[in-house]
Amino acid sequence: MAVVWFFSVWFDAEWWDASGVRGGMSRGRLVIDFDVPWPGYQPGWHIAHEWMARERRPLVWESEVRWESNWRRVAIPIWQILLSIGAVATIAWRLDVIGARRARRGMCRGCGYDLAGIAKGAKCPECGARAR
Ligand SMILES: [Zn+2]
Repeated sequence: MAVVWFFSVWFDAEWWDASGVRGGMSRGRLVIDFDVPWPGYQPGWHIAHEWMARERRPLVWESEVRWESNWRRVAIPIWQILLSIGAVATIAWRLDVIGARRARRGMCRGCGYDLAGIAKGAKCPECGARAR
């Protein structure tokens, strides 16, 4: 996804639906436009590239929500998506590390209750999670 972000400096890639909905990537953002098809509107993939442009078009860092009567747009910068995925992955990883540490010490993975003397495979008496 970081690669997609990088190349979106030069490329716009959009999928155009027959009803005027267009979704794709442009200048570092995922963009969805809800529009009324205009004359000559062609559903399908639309890829515009800017190889010949002297300067790269600047990335857009802000998200955007526009809500007008005949045109709507929702745009999310890809850096925000990457950051959210990273945050969720970090939290999941931390929980996994904590659970593994508890299991090593003979504690319940879920709540940390000391499972000494409790049969393997039995449920944790404290939180009901499967013990060990
Ligand atoms: Zn427990």
